[in-house]
Amino acid sequence: MLNEFIQRPWEILVSSLEIMGQDLPLGMKIDAMVSRAMHGMSRPDPIPFSSAEPPTLQTPHRGGVQEQPAQSRDALILSGGGAYAAYEVGVMKALFTGQSSATGNVAWDPGIVVGTSAGSLNAGLLLSAEKEGPGAVEYLEEVWMNEVADGPGKCGSGVFRFRENPLTFLTPGCYRSPAWLIASFLSDSAFLGREFLERGARVLDSSVDIEQRLLETVDLGALISVEPLQQLLRKSLRLEKIRASRKQIRIASTNWRTGEIRIFSNEDMSDEIGYDVIQASSSIPGVFPRVEIENDPYVDGGLVMNTPLKPAIDAGAEVLQVIFMDADVAHIPLPKLANTPNEIFRSLIIGFSRTLKQDLELAAKANRMIAAVASAPDTGPIESKAAVFARGSDGKPHRPLTIHLHHPMTALGGSWLSFGQDQVKQSMERGYEDGVHHDCETNGCLLAKQ
Ligand SMILES: [Zn+2]
Repeated sequence: MLNEFIQRPWEILVSSLEIMGQDLPLGMKIDAMVSRAMHGMSRPDPIPFSSAEPPTLQTPHRGGVQEQPAQSRDALILSGGGAYAAYEVGVMKALFTGQSSATGNVAWDPGIVVGTSAGSLNAGLLLSAEKEGPGAVEYLEEVWMNEVADGPGKCGSGVFRFRENPLTFLTPGCYRSPAWLIASFLSDSAFLGREFLERGARVLDSSVDIEQRLLETVDLGALISVEPLQQLLRKSLRLEKIRASRKQIRIASTNWRTGEIRIFSNEDMSDEIGYDVIQASSSIPGVFPRVEIENDPYVDGGLVMNTPLKPAIDAGAEVLQVIFMDADVAHIPLPKLANTPNEIFRSLIIGFSRTLKQDLELAAKANRMIAAVASAPDTGPIESKAAVFARGSDGKPHRPLTIHLHHPMTALGGSWLSFGQDQVKQSMERGYEDGVHHDCETNGCLLAKQ
């Protein structure tokens, strides 16, 4: 049906790649593609754009502010990486100030911003800033250096702290609030006490294997408090600005109960759940606690898709600037001693690398298909079918995708859990340098005009 054709242009476009791969004259291919599109997508196995499930976009409207039209079809994709996400701020600075060849050395400002994991914090901050363009990046730099990073005179990072950390009592920055120091110590004692009792009771449950019982007593997340992140979000995010922004925001988070990805939009950033959405998207399971949203537990969106290209394309993106920490796992040295946080992080990187590669391959095929349709003979009914097929949901023809990839060529130093000011500053500077000296060929960008 034409309605479906209009409502699901990208799926139809991508599905027709199957036909384009067949050994048929171009006219017959176009006939088959249009027939498939007009008859309800009856192909047996739809080709997904990525391994991710389609995003859930039917969430109820809550914010009370209608989403405004996007400023442009340019999209910024911000992936995860913990403390390394400071690198994204540096690349953004190069893009927004017109210092990068990825934007033709023209000051750039996206209409669509997609964030996953730590990238969701950057996405939220970008739309929270009082100014747009370079001014918004300045706000991000300010928050990262003054609120997120740990440094002299501060009492830990703005992201997490270890419960009952004895070093807290040796940190001068923590003395400034003795009442908080005592209260947090008592709160941690109560929390860990409850954990000890619950897990101790589990060990005594003789109906379960003793090995399993002992393994289930281990939870690294129980030792970590994300109270600093909760405070940082409430201090630095402006939910009403995000809801009212002309930019479209998409935050990816994983439903820990169902395993499905959920995409949160501007209107979802309500006073009730807005902060939780960003926290959940940043919560790497096993390290950070899951977050309850509307009676379901949510964790890091990077579990399913760390560079969510699909939400941006669904939102109408044609030019994508994708910033991630490293797509080449071989560039990340293996630690001599294995440890749980790094093993979890590496597994996320490997999953992300696979997803990104699949997404890029599919986008390249789509570009070739669009070029083939564009060059179809300009005669008779075939021409009109091609013109209809190439029409998007907004009535405009589909355009090929340009995807610029921004990532460090060698591993960033330090650790993804180290939020020291020096590391944060170095990551931002590295991102800026890489953005300024961006090279499409070296970075493996996908350019529409190839
Ligand atoms: Zn490029």
